[in-house]
Amino acid sequence: MKRLYEADAYTRDWPESHWRRSLPVPAPAPRLTGQATAEVAVIGAGYAGLSAAHELVTRFGTDVVVLDAVQPGWGASGRNGGFCCLGGSKLSDRAIIRRVGDEGARAFHLFQRAAIDGVADFLQTHGIDARQGPEGETYLAHTPAAYRALAEAAAADPTARLIPPEALAEAGLAGPAFHGALQVAHGFPLHPLAYVEGLARVAAAAGVRIHGDSPVLHLAPEGGGWRLDTPDGTLRAKRVLVATNGYSSEDLPRWLAGRSLPALSSIMVTRPISAEERAAQGFTSALMAADTRTALHYFRHLPDGRFLFGMRGGTSAAPAAIAATQTRVRVHFDAMFPAWTGVETESRWSGFVCLTGSLAPFVGRVPGAEGLFAALGWHGSGVAPASRGGRLAARLIAGAEADIPALMALPPRRFPLPAFRRTALAAGYLAAELRDGALPRSPRP
Ligand SMILES: Cc1cc2nc3c(=O)[nH]c(=O)nc-3n(C[C@H](O)[C@H](O)[C@H](O)COP(=O)(O)OP(=O)(O)OC[C@H]3O[C@@H](n4cnc5c(N)ncnc54)[C@H](O)[C@@H]3O)c2cc1C
Repeated sequence: MKRLYEADAYTRDWPESHWRRSLPVPAPAPRLTGQATAEVAVIGAGYAGLSAAHELVTRFGTDVVVLDAVQPGWGASGRNGGFCCLGGSKLSDRAIIRRVGDEGARAFHLFQRAAIDGVADFLQTHGIDARQGPEGETYLAHTPAAYRALAEAAAADPTARLIPPEALAEAGLAGPAFHGALQVAHGFPLHPLAYVEGLARVAAAAGVRIHGDSPVLHLAPEGGGWRLDTPDGTLRAKRVLVATNGYSSEDLPRWLAGRSLPALSSIMVTRPISAEERAAQGFTSALMAADTRTALHYFRHLPDGRFLFGMRGGTSAAPAAIAATQTRVRVHFDAMFPAWTGVETESRWSGFVCLTGSLAPFVGRVPGAEGLFAALGWHGSGVAPASRGGRLAARLIAGAEADIPALMALPPRRFPLPAFRRTALAAGYLAAELRDGALPRSPRP
């Protein structure tokens, strides 16, 4: 497997997340051994792959095997911020309209809304205890100009609530880095690992065969279908879904080369913050929140009083670089929440999101490869979109009406100069920082 980052990023002993610490470890999915067959093979046991497999088994009675290099939820699905929210693309609204027209833009927005509802329904139907807070999300302006842009957005959305700078403290959103806010009604926070492990449980109970510790090392057409080789076994399937997102390889399948760009996102979680400490900062809102920076910060209180804070995670997965990023995350946290500089960090970790050369997700057939499909590229927000995207991929694979928004049906373009993607990403971060402006001075030396 040819991957874009250092090998450290793909090893099992990646730092343990708060989510892993807060849930019992389930029995491992067995590795694939010997010869096996299936109608559909799914590569990747995150939200996308497992949702696709569940949909195929329960709606179409398909025989499905899911293979994961490590275990279900080991990728981004088990270690994200738990914002089940709108998103999935890095394109501006205007750029989306330019690419797929007003109707296409509306279809993509409806997809995002339906994706959130779909996760909520799934959790409720299957009794998965993963929801963590009230519905809605706050966008915090990082400059007065950003606040004016939020005010314009509020004028177009009757359900949105605009909060001027002077009302932030009363709304429990005080902080030196915030210049007003917009609250939207969509989305809710969840325990991401409880969701993905619940999804794996439900899929397995429905008949999906899930194998962990079974990295697909080689994928090739054979006899009108596909052959997937893992270290201890071989799976033959008529059709294959690639759902590897930020953990994709450049050569699996080769078509992917240069079309995706994994990007690190990094999270820290504090020890529980007392009610007095929360009041001292004035940031008490139970809604999930993000700022309007291009290189944004996302944060929320957890139900047990801990506070989760995340941001971009640098462009290297080498241990020293990861350590430097984690220090940087703490510096940003201190600058944005100065009353909490004495609150210790309890856990920190990072993982890969996935950008595509088109800056939009893709659910569709891999061009020129009969029976090969892909569902990936959710950018920073994949909890809801990957879940629904996987289900749409399942319908496509089953030959049913899939209703994939036009924006997501276009195969991703290759990045220009793919060999320099990480360098371009580093330059992009630098440009974003310059555009976004400095954070308030950190009270720490
Ligand atoms: C730190 C962080 C914070 C985030 N916060 C949020 C958030 O708050 N809200 C939100 O909406 N999104 C968030 N995201 C993004 C979101 O988590 C992802 O978009 C989503 O989980 C992607 O799901 P997936 O199933 O497509 O891929 P993943 O969950 O990444 O799964 C891919 C799987 O493929 C497996 N795999 C790869 N190669 C192979 C192979 N050759 N053989 C077998 N298996 C293979 C991997 O082991 C992995 O388990 C965040 C991501 C990160 C990293």
